[in-house]
Amino acid sequence: MIAELVSVGTEILLGNIVNTNSAYLSEKCALLGLSVYYQTVVGDNEARMKETVRTALDRSDVVIFTGGLGPTEDDMTKEVVADVMGLSMAEDEHSRKRIETYMKQYEKNDKKRRITSNNYKQALVPEGALVLDNQNGTAPGLIIEKNGKTAILLPGPPNEMKPMFEEEVYPFLRKKQPEIIYSQMIKICGIGESQVAEEIQDLIENQTNPTIAPYAKTGEVHLRITAKGESEKECKKMIKPVVRELKNRFGKNIFATEEDKTLEEAVVDMLKDQGLKLSLVESCTGGAVAARIVNVPGASQVFTHGYVTYSNRAKRRCIGVKKSTLKMEGAVSAKCAKEMAKGGCVVSGTDISLSITGLAGPDGGTKETPVGTVFMGCCYNGKVETREFHFTGNRRKIREQASAHALVMLRECIMEGIYKKD
Ligand code: ATP
Repeated sequence: MIAELVSVGTEILLGNIVNTNSAYLSEKCALLGLSVYYQTVVGDNEARMKETVRTALDRSDVVIFTGGLGPTEDDMTKEVVADVMGLSMAEDEHSRKRIETYMKQYEKNDKKRRITSNNYKQALVPEGALVLDNQNGTAPGLIIEKNGKTAILLPGPPNEMKPMFEEEVYPFLRKKQPEIIYSQMIKICGIGESQVAEEIQDLIENQTNPTIAPYAKTGEVHLRITAKGESEKECKKMIKPVVRELKNRFGKNIFATEEDKTLEEAVVDMLKDQGLKLSLVESCTGGAVAARIVNVPGASQVFTHGYVTYSNRAKRRCIGVKKSTLKMEGAVSAKCAKEMAKGGCVVSGTDISLSITGLAGPDGGTKETPVGTVFMGCCYNGKVETREFHFTGNRRKIREQASAHALVMLRECIMEGIYKKD
């Protein structure tokens, strides 16, 4: 079933308010297994609203409107929808009584406030419409069905719209669309997006239900496997063999199968499992890797020291990088990264230390060491592995990629068992 969202309000077009209603409703529609192909924003203008309503009802089965149900002249969603659907308006007795009760409560607290004819306008509903009570305001919601099309009208304020959707609209749509959508996430690191895409091309080409959708994130690739079925149990059963196949193909590169598990969480978990203490020695990332690690609750169990050695002097004084290394090889070099990682372990006494030194630009690049060059080192039990990267983009992007790849390298070093206890 195709659903469409129409947000009504000039203030949304002007950017005065953010259209959070659409984000919320899109997510709910996806859960219900409804396909949302269009979202529209239209101002409080009768002609343009008529055109929008006509188009939406023409191409979609269910159209969900938010906003424009209030008592003022420019609130006209209900009138326009009724007009386009060819329905006349009549007063709904039940809504009138509810509005009177609601307004009387206000009158008690604010003597100047009176029920006006505008308030009664909110009790007018299109013939045959199902009225949805508003527990948090005066404007009732409406469900109107005609010729196989459904228009659902909800108030604009999210605190009125959301409870009405949850309590009345969700169960209504659930009956109309008995299938549900269920998805499972597979998060991969250490392989680029194009390689992942190539390795699952056959699965994507033959997919119907479930489907696999790849999303790239800095240093990570996420695969969302989505199934449509009558119950969560049925969907999980359909997803299981696909997950098994992806696990076969990507093995150790999969760092999470939970929706909200982050790469730093996976790294902290591994450090905990191995009983390792970590230190970081950062230059161009300026503490960004440490910041990601300490985002994880319980990171203090594994992360003990973070050094930001931005200047050459700091690299020498705090961490023991040799003067000759800085002079002969430069701060952005494999040798410097190696000494930084080694120095990290020595100075902090941790089991594992990761270093990052690079050139984030925009200035300072040379032919030999262009902007985006980053060296990383990982020291484990006296041995150090170094890696060289060439990132592209602006300063922020380069630092972001360096931080993500530092976590990937850390994870791989722990996983490959490069750390060996004596
Ligand atoms: P009211 O009875 O309060 O007038 P209404 O149904 O007529 O409700 P609008 O007048 O269109 O709704 O919007 C009222 C308020 O609701 C807006 O000022 C805004 O704060 C919020 N709102 C409206 N639409 C949205 C939206 N799409 N996303 C987030 N908030 C919204």
